[in-house]
Amino acid sequence: MTDAKRVYAFGKDAHGGNNTEGNRDMKMVLGGKGANLAEMANMGLPVPPGFTISCQACMEYYNSTPPAFPPGLAEEIDGYVADLEGKMGKTLGDPSDPLLVSVRSGSPFSMPGMMDTVLNLGLNDVSVRGLIAQTGNDRFAWDSYRRFIQMFSKVVLDAKGDLFENALTTKRHARNAATDADLGADDLRDLVAEFKEIVAVNVSAKEFPELADGGGRVAFPQDVAIQLRLAIEAVFRSWMNDRACEYRKMERIPDDLGTAVNVQSMVFGNKGETSATGVAFTRNPADGTNEFYGDFLTNAQGEDVVAGIRNTSALADLPAVLPEAGGELWKVLSTLESHYRDMCDIEFTIEQGTLWMLQTRVGKRTARAALKVAIDMVEEGLITREEAVLRIDPAQLDQLLHPQFDAKAHYEVVAKGLNASPGAAVGEVVFTSADAVEARAAGRNVILVRWETTPDDLRGMIAAQGILTSHGGKTSHAAVVARGMGKPCVCGAERLKIDAEKKQAVISGTDIVLGEGDIISIDGTTGIVVMGAVELVEPEVSGDFDTILSWSDEYRTMGVRANADTPDDAVLGRRFGAEGIGLCRTEHMFLGDRKQIVQDMIISEDEAGRTAPLAELLKVQVEDYLGIFAAMDGLPVTVRLLDPPLHEFLDSPRELAVEIARMECTGVSQSEIAPKRRLLALVDSMSEMNPMLGLRGCRLGIMFPEIYGMQVRAIAIATCQLKAQGRDPRPEIMIPLVSVVAELETLRAESEAILAQVQAQEGCVLDIPIGTMIELPRAAITADEIAKVADFFSFGTNDLTQTTFGFSRDDIESKFLPRYLERKILLRNPFETVDSGVAMLVKMGCDLGRKTNPKIKLGVCGEHGGDPESVKIFHAAGLTYVSCSPYRVPLARLAAAQAALSEKAPASDNR
Ligand code: PEP
Ligand code: MG
Repeated sequence: MTDAKRVYAFGKDAHGGNNTEGNRDMKMVLGGKGANLAEMANMGLPVPPGFTISCQACMEYYNSTPPAFPPGLAEEIDGYVADLEGKMGKTLGDPSDPLLVSVRSGSPFSMPGMMDTVLNLGLNDVSVRGLIAQTGNDRFAWDSYRRFIQMFSKVVLDAKGDLFENALTTKRHARNAATDADLGADDLRDLVAEFKEIVAVNVSAKEFPELADGGGRVAFPQDVAIQLRLAIEAVFRSWMNDRACEYRKMERIPDDLGTAVNVQSMVFGNKGETSATGVAFTRNPADGTNEFYGDFLTNAQGEDVVAGIRNTSALADLPAVLPEAGGELWKVLSTLESHYRDMCDIEFTIEQGTLWMLQTRVGKRTARAALKVAIDMVEEGLITREEAVLRIDPAQLDQLLHPQFDAKAHYEVVAKGLNASPGAAVGEVVFTSADAVEARAAGRNVILVRWETTPDDLRGMIAAQGILTSHGGKTSHAAVVARGMGKPCVCGAERLKIDAEKKQAVISGTDIVLGEGDIISIDGTTGIVVMGAVELVEPEVSGDFDTILSWSDEYRTMGVRANADTPDDAVLGRRFGAEGIGLCRTEHMFLGDRKQIVQDMIISEDEAGRTAPLAELLKVQVEDYLGIFAAMDGLPVTVRLLDPPLHEFLDSPRELAVEIARMECTGVSQSEIAPKRRLLALVDSMSEMNPMLGLRGCRLGIMFPEIYGMQVRAIAIATCQLKAQGRDPRPEIMIPLVSVVAELETLRAESEAILAQVQAQEGCVLDIPIGTMIELPRAAITADEIAKVADFFSFGTNDLTQTTFGFSRDDIESKFLPRYLERKILLRNPFETVDSGVAMLVKMGCDLGRKTNPKIKLGVCGEHGGDPESVKIFHAAGLTYVSCSPYRVPLARLAAAQAALSEKAPASDNR
């Protein structure tokens, strides 16, 4: 037994004094919900009293096999239950005036809808009578009891939810009732009996032996202490359910944090027309407008709003419906926003005119809203510019770089819904999560079309390009999750009548029937649905985005360049703020219609035979460099000399063998076949077991000096030509895959000789830095030697990761990486976020390089250069710049600024 405190009270005591033991800084102990309930109670806001069981208790629960409460926890909980009963002047299960509680999950990072909740706990066959006596409302009491049995049985006893829904539907039909609200007290009392029978028939007494009746069937628990213990255990267990695990994987939330359990006295939004329940944001989470925003329902319980079962009213209408509580809520929203100095979202309930706060947290928002809120708050004097920059999640900015409908495109809107998550998507219609996953695996783009999504649809939502629902508001599950993922989502498109069984949807008012596989387009920014594929366009970096990026540029100390191989990519990178090209791969310049020239060069038996193809290549290469240097006029362009294994330019030996066989069968003469045979023999002779570890990179330059020579000459000629036109080309020559300094010494000397020749011929002064990639462990370890002959290093972290781990970068992601991640042998894909071992090699390379060459420039040009987390690691390693794909340049600018600012203050993590 430990002395550690595991339970914390919150809310007012019986005399109105504050009896709260936690605060907002205790998220890791109390979970987000518990910490913020405590904070609101400390602020004097109306919070129904309760207590929070810590996240650590949840992890202790998993320490036993089978999982069990740690010693002492049950007693500690009993003490807090007694304390709560004292505060409320009511007892759980009291036959005349029962205390009812909710039991809710709440982990350190928000995981909306992924874990479980039980409401109305404390009702049984006796206490339901007490509730009737207290409220004088037997319909309400029986409805509360049937909701409790339904939720408890599903969440705690693992009974199928459909069984209860079907009984409810049958009852509605029998009574000719349009909705549940039209069922009377007697109907609901009957349903309670039916629900208990469903439990007896469907729940296994073996799994819940303490609930077994004399006949071996399960009796719905009447003992409120058992109800509470089982509900707390169920919430602990929900931490490890499939959808919670999947969500954590996606959001990179560690598995060992656990969830807290909040036990809180119930307040009811379903006690008639002066009661209501809803969700509210202090600003608009979709576009950031400074307005109160959300949905509410009168006479309803919390889950009715989020489940999208009834159509909600806009929060703005609340003061007109319930003026006093509405006015109170408005004040609370303002208080919360100034206290948290950020946009908050809250859940509230109004019980017979009295407002209660059930939850608050810093609200999730779209990237567009995040930018606007941050900038507005700086203008309002609420936060500083530095805080504004630290608050934007670079990965989320990706949303703004998503495609939109082309403004020039013509299309007919067939349905309209709510603009729940911005961006446009085109894909085939699928009606189930499983179909979405399957189609995606087959490489097809899909739009997941659902009545409403539930947490069980998560995999399908991840797989889909976009999500379309016919029900639910902007705070429905589909909307919240899609916004978090940055996926386009249109929800509540009511004209869509979906028959998921038949896999079709009728658009009412038209004769359009959408079937599986039909192509549709959705625009989550405007909420429209279109038949067929609409042309999409890439967005611009402008407005608020530009403001945050220009602030970022003031704070960051690391440069950001783009990886670009064509003038178009170079222009795009420049538009997104790249300060040069950190990697211009030249191999694609040797493919397409130029492949034949390269082949001619490779298969020539001697140097003389290579002269003509090389001359042709020189001509086209000069044109290539003219284009790129001109596009990046005044900025550095690092050109990497040819890198890939030569066989990539040769025909496939299998295809050649087939062609020869076919020629033989069709009687083609031996003299005509002979060159093909020679080619096949040559290709065979060049084949390697491990081409990525073979004749590639600088080894090509050593073996075929004339290839690198031609490239260096082309770079020099293009530079001279542009200089003659008064332009300012700034090429840098980069030699790939060096492992020993002598490789670089040799190739540097040969390159310098050619530069000197061109300089003399053209009469122009050339000052072209020559550097190398550090992409092999040996190069990183001997970087002090290499730096003596290098003007710059660029860390090729793709190859460095490949060679450090000995993982084939082309294979592992489809072979064993998924299993490695699943079994937590690796926590991240090392080709996405730089691994700590690889990062140590980078740091070592930087430090050793600077030791012998203090002026050396140090960059990164592997994929990691555009990964926000890796950018922060590179900043710490002391790199001069990162280089990444043009679309990632804005993210890298922001991440680099956050890395610099985080040295002063930690970035916020609002997950
Ligand atoms: C690298 O290895 O990180 C790199 C940028 O080069 P490439 O991806 O072209 O091998
Ligand atoms: Mg490489």
